[in-house]
Amino acid sequence: MRRLLVIITIAMLISLIAVAYAQTNQVYFKFEISSRQELVSLTRIISIDNVKDKTVYAYANDKQFDYFKTLGYDYTILPSPSSLISPRMADSREAILEWDSYPTYGEYVSMMQRFESDYPGLCIIENIGYSVEGREILFAKLSANVNIEENEPEVMYSSTMHGDETTGYVLMLRLIDYLLSNYGTDPQITNILDSMEVWINPLANPDGTYHGGDNTVEDAIRFNANGVDLNRNFPDPDEGPHPDGNDWQPETIAMMNFFNRHSFVISANFHGGAEVVNYPWDTWPQRHADDAWFIQISREYADSAQTNSPPGYMTDLNNGITNGWDWYTIAGGRQDYLNFWKGCREVTIELSHIKLLPPEQLPDYWDYNRAAFLTYWEQAYYGIKGLVTDASTGLPIAATISVIDHDIDSSEVYTDPDVGDYHRMIEPGTYDLRFTSPGYIPLTVYGVTAIFRNATVVDVQLQPVPDEPMLEFYAHDAGVVNAGDTVSMSITLINNGGGNAYDVNATLSTSDSFIDVLQPNSTYPTIIALGGTGTSYTDYQFAISSDCPDYYLVDFQLDITASGGYSDTSHFDLLVGDRVTIFADDFSFNQGWIGLGGPAEWTIGVATGGQGSDSHGGPDPALDHSPSDDNQVLGNDLNPESGGDYNSNISTTYWVTSPIIDCTDYTGVIMTYYRWLGVERNQYDHAYLQAFNGNNWVTLFENPSTTIDESSWNEKIFDLSSIADENPDFQIRFGLGTTDGSPRDSVIFQVTLNTDSLPPGDYSSSINFTSNDPDTPTGSIPISLHVLAPSISFSLDAITDSLYEDSLSVHDITIYNSGEGILFITFSSEYSWIGFDGGPYYITPADSAILQVTLDATDLSPDDYSGSIDFDSNDPDSLSGNIPVTLTVMPLSPGCDYVPGDINGDGDVIGNDVTFGVRYFKGPGSAPPDSCWNDSNGSWLYSAGDANGNCHFTGSDVTFLVAYFKGHNPEIFWCPQTPPAQPAISSRNNKLKR
Ligand SMILES: [Zn+2]
Repeated sequence: MRRLLVIITIAMLISLIAVAYAQTNQVYFKFEISSRQELVSLTRIISIDNVKDKTVYAYANDKQFDYFKTLGYDYTILPSPSSLISPRMADSREAILEWDSYPTYGEYVSMMQRFESDYPGLCIIENIGYSVEGREILFAKLSANVNIEENEPEVMYSSTMHGDETTGYVLMLRLIDYLLSNYGTDPQITNILDSMEVWINPLANPDGTYHGGDNTVEDAIRFNANGVDLNRNFPDPDEGPHPDGNDWQPETIAMMNFFNRHSFVISANFHGGAEVVNYPWDTWPQRHADDAWFIQISREYADSAQTNSPPGYMTDLNNGITNGWDWYTIAGGRQDYLNFWKGCREVTIELSHIKLLPPEQLPDYWDYNRAAFLTYWEQAYYGIKGLVTDASTGLPIAATISVIDHDIDSSEVYTDPDVGDYHRMIEPGTYDLRFTSPGYIPLTVYGVTAIFRNATVVDVQLQPVPDEPMLEFYAHDAGVVNAGDTVSMSITLINNGGGNAYDVNATLSTSDSFIDVLQPNSTYPTIIALGGTGTSYTDYQFAISSDCPDYYLVDFQLDITASGGYSDTSHFDLLVGDRVTIFADDFSFNQGWIGLGGPAEWTIGVATGGQGSDSHGGPDPALDHSPSDDNQVLGNDLNPESGGDYNSNISTTYWVTSPIIDCTDYTGVIMTYYRWLGVERNQYDHAYLQAFNGNNWVTLFENPSTTIDESSWNEKIFDLSSIADENPDFQIRFGLGTTDGSPRDSVIFQVTLNTDSLPPGDYSSSINFTSNDPDTPTGSIPISLHVLAPSISFSLDAITDSLYEDSLSVHDITIYNSGEGILFITFSSEYSWIGFDGGPYYITPADSAILQVTLDATDLSPDDYSGSIDFDSNDPDSLSGNIPVTLTVMPLSPGCDYVPGDINGDGDVIGNDVTFGVRYFKGPGSAPPDSCWNDSNGSWLYSAGDANGNCHFTGSDVTFLVAYFKGHNPEIFWCPQTPPAQPAISSRNNKLKR
């Protein structure tokens, strides 16, 4: 009988594998690079797994691999790491508890559920969402009083986001069991669960791990079921929301929603394929503000693992630790996402060289890491911590804690708004801390000392801001205006003060003689405090004199009044004069610049960032300024390995000179360029920008008698009308030199300055001559010219989507140029719900660019909408055209019967609701009577209590409600997934005196 069962199981497995392979193909391969700079672009094309010296190990799905093959590398295809063994699988709880096999998917899920039922006061299992194929993504929450939110740091582990890196999967499952079964007997574990809130997710990518079917981890893959590397799919601090060009996957969205609901202090993301602790940043070369602290905690983890293992374990790279960028850069990793946006300190820990570890070795790797797993979390005890509360109500505040002159690149931390607690782990030293929160007066605490392996407690109370408005200019809608126009425009004001602004009036004026204000007055709606905006009821009107020059800046003044005797003045600028682009260069290729190379090392090449090997100046740019994806710039010494600095002892000025730009047909020429300049003062070194007026070179810029040390792109604008107008021979040139004996940083430019060119096609003409040759007194030389044509195509012919009300979606359209000439293309749309960057885009032959399109249903009511994105290009076969867009806006699911903010359910939103909420959270009070089932997170929600609209009812809703009564919040929000059947307005009618 048993034999028969086995046979059936195998037959089912085979069919599952066949189906799964049809969906996702994965290639694992290696190749050699000649320079580490190649990694910066390769990491955006394929999924790099490891880099050893100049050998790169990588994964690719079919599409990525097809593209990689066009790059011309010699590569070797390697066997998939999970195809090398047939691991022993455990299909019973008893077998898993030996910890020397991999669980089947079903046993994994049931084991997680058993943890909750066996340890009800200590463990809750939370399903945070589902994978592409519908498998569960599970977290175990472990803490004494696990059902109560306490003043405790939240700590987190997650593993196997790469489905074929399975060591951490079993070790995390075992860690949960180990914590639960030793609570109350082991003092270290008891202390951790008594004083922390622990979250463990053993399996972040179940579809990848069970790619071969639910009953085996053989044939596991790195990617999810859509062929996407989940550790490249998060928003990136450097590259924006979709660094990999893919939509956020269901697994990614589930994680991001989960992080939004929590306030994690420290975490780790477990992987395999190496043995090393990888600390931030992965995406760029600059160091984290807490670099020294990250090195220390990474070192402690690796030291502990080394102590508990045979020689050689956890010793990769710098004896078991590495900075992420130094190893190899990635964009879209979860580590940088949590560090940059969520105030959490996350590292990436690679647990075993072998990805699919033979299961009989799992107990050894448990022994190596068991102690380090626990001590890593204990870092959360140390540093500076405390509570941030409202000075008048004592309620917790959602505050930001910044360390002055220390925090950079979003290294600030935040309070847990449910309790108000914060935990700022930091290297020992003395610091000044600044506490800020909207609606409160910022507070700085000076001279706080952090001691090694100690906690310094700093509790603060913040005072609400005074109830007075502060109105300023925010925006106008005048658009492009030209000399001779009569312009109507609305003006929007912003209220940055703490009190609402009623009866607002603003008068427009200017002392500019080219401007005649015709309609200077408007009233405004009530503008609520703390960032509220309001737009003028009546349009302002003014006339621009026809004598007004182009590119002329007008200074306008607004005199603003509001009730209660408030008055203030605000200024804004408006530019007169429309523009035509005549020449642009993003340096994606050389358009004809001469003078490259030489002692000044003028280079058109990829911006690679880096500080250089010496200490001169700030970092160079890691990204260019243009929207195209080539990342190329013009600069000096773009190679970070040779220092990134310009040379010393340059004996004369070396120039790099643009092609001739024919400005015959133009007047009022303006040049804009972007600069990232580091140069010593002109006593030592020299940098120039000059323009050719037809006879002489005119200096537009030379470095002054002070050092310039820029660390970001700076826009520079020059009015060149006296030099370039109607000039057929216009040119610009950048110069470097002389320099003295000490070099400094580099000089990098990106120019935007364009010229018209002949449209693609065939041209023929001739040169006629006359001569004194009696045989040929006249004649002609025929000339034919072929201007190369681009050829355009798009990855999508149309966009079709459906969205719920109040949501948006993002779509990437790749623009390909398969022709011979450079493609120029611009996009426009008359539909306000379709958003994108209209360009112009310049795409070289055989290259591509991405048009990112946002569909915004925020202001649309449920219905079907059709629109289009129109384009104009220089492709003779498609001079213009459009991409149709259809959007269905769906109503939100029907809601529940409740009044938002009416926590106690008596129909009114008044102070009693705050008291009711506080009593509930403190213990003695009962739960709110109104609740709804919330599909999005599969739990009951006390809907009326969710005043801040985050789909949870917590202490921060009470804070929010208090702020609402005080007039700091404009309205009460409700959870978008469970909107109230009764409109929210019913609560606003009951609003109390402010
Ligand atoms: Zn990995």
